[in-house]
Amino acid sequence: MKSLMRIPCTECGGTLRRTAIAQEFENEGVKVRLSGVRAWVCSKCHEIYFEPGGADRMAEAVRCLFAVALAEKQHKGTVIADLS
Ligand SMILES: [Zn+2]
Repeated sequence: MKSLMRIPCTECGGTLRRTAIAQEFENEGVKVRLSGVRAWVCSKCHEIYFEPGGADRMAEAVRCLFAVALAEKQHKGTVIADLS
């Protein structure tokens, strides 16, 4: 069983489940995808919550991915990082 966070969803009061999510970002035609990111997701409305500092770490990872994508000039592809 997955562990449950004690606080309910602030949007709908639903239960938060810890799970791995994937998100895609686009910047000036360059796409990067980050998957396997651990976060809390509401079982009802699917609102995503990060642990303290989690959103900052994710933003940093995305910034690095864009740097790699731009350096490699992979304008037609997607740079993917799987953290799982
Ligand atoms: Zn919710």
